Amino acid sequence: MKFADLHLHSHFSDGTYQPAELAAHAQRCQLAAIALTDHDSVEGCRDTARECAAAGLEFIAGTELTAEQNEDELHLLGYFIDIQNPTLLKRIARCQAVRQDRVREMVARLNRLKVPLSADAVFALANCRAPGRPHVARALVKARLCSSLDEAFERFLKRNRPAWVPKLKMSAPEAIELIHRADGIAVLAHPGLNRTDDVIPGLVQAGLDGIECFHTKHSTATSERYLELACRFHLLVTGGSDCHGQSKGKPLIGTVKVPYPYVEKLKTRAAELKSNSSLRATP
Ligand code: AMP
Ligand code: FE
Ligand code: FE
Ligand code: ZN
Repeated sequence: MKFADLHLHSHFSDGTYQPAELAAHAQRCQLAAIALTDHDSVEGCRDTARECAAAGLEFIAGTELTAEQNEDELHLLGYFIDIQNPTLLKRIARCQAVRQDRVREMVARLNRLKVPLSADAVFALANCRAPGRPHVARALVKARLCSSLDEAFERFLKRNRPAWVPKLKMSAPEAIELIHRADGIAVLAHPGLNRTDDVIPGLVQAGLDGIECFHTKHSTATSERYLELACRFHLLVTGGSDCHGQSKGKPLIGTVKVPYPYVEKLKTRAAELKSNSSLRATP
C-alpha cells in the first residue's frame, strides 16, 4: 500500500528542514507522495518538487493560509495549487509583509519588557519571507533569553501573553476563493485544534472541498468525528503530520499519513475544478 503525508513545513516558513532533507526523510519513511504546506508561502514548492523528482517521490504543491471566521483563526490548506498564480502570489506577499511587521511589533513589546532581542536577530534566524512566533521563540532561546521554546511561548508569545500580537488575517471565504483561483482544492486544516465545528457549514457554502481528518494532534475519536462530518457534507478527506522538522524533537514526517487512494480523490477533484475554471475563462 502506498501512503502520503499531506501536511509538511519547510524552512520557507516555520519548519527547519530544507527541501532536500524533506525529500530524504520522505524516502526514509517510504512515502509515495508528500505535499509541502508552508504557512502563507509557496516559495519552497519549486525546490521541493525538484528534490522529490530526484528521489522518485510524487510532490503536491500546497500552502497553509492563515484565515479567520468569527474571530477564530483557521488554517486553510490549498493542494495542487498553481504556484505562479499572480492573484495568489500578490495576496501571499501581503500576508508576508504583515508577518514581518508583526515580528517587529513582538520584538518592540519584548524590549518594553526589558528583554533585549533585536528584530534583525529574528529575521536572520528565520531567513524566510513568512516569519512567525516560532522564529521569535527560537531567537529568544538562541540569545539565552529563554531556556526553551515552550518557555518562550508560555511567558511571552501565547495568545494574550505580553508579547503576543494578533495577525491581520483574510476571511476564510477569501482564502478558499484564492485557492480555487489558483486551481487548488481548499481543505480545513486540523479542525480538532480549533474546535470550532460550527464554522464548517459556512465554509462548505463558501466552497470548502475537504477536511483534514487525520492530524498529529487529533485523537482517534476526533478523527472519527471529522470523518463523519466529511461524509455528511460530502467533503474530501486529507491527513498529514504537520511536521515542522527538528524544532519539536523527533521529526513527525510519516507518522500521520493517508492511503494513496485519498490522494487520487484529491487529484480527481483538482482536475474537475481546473476544467470548470477553464470553461468559465473561455468566452
Ligand atoms: P504564528 O503563525 O506566527 O502565529 O505561529 C503559529 C505557529 O507557532 C504554529 O504553526 C506552530 O508551529 C507554532 N506554535 C503555536 N503555539 C505553540 C506553542 N505553544 N509551542 C510551540 N510552538 C507553537
Ligand atoms: Fe507552524
Ligand atoms: Fe496549522
Ligand atoms: Zn501546519
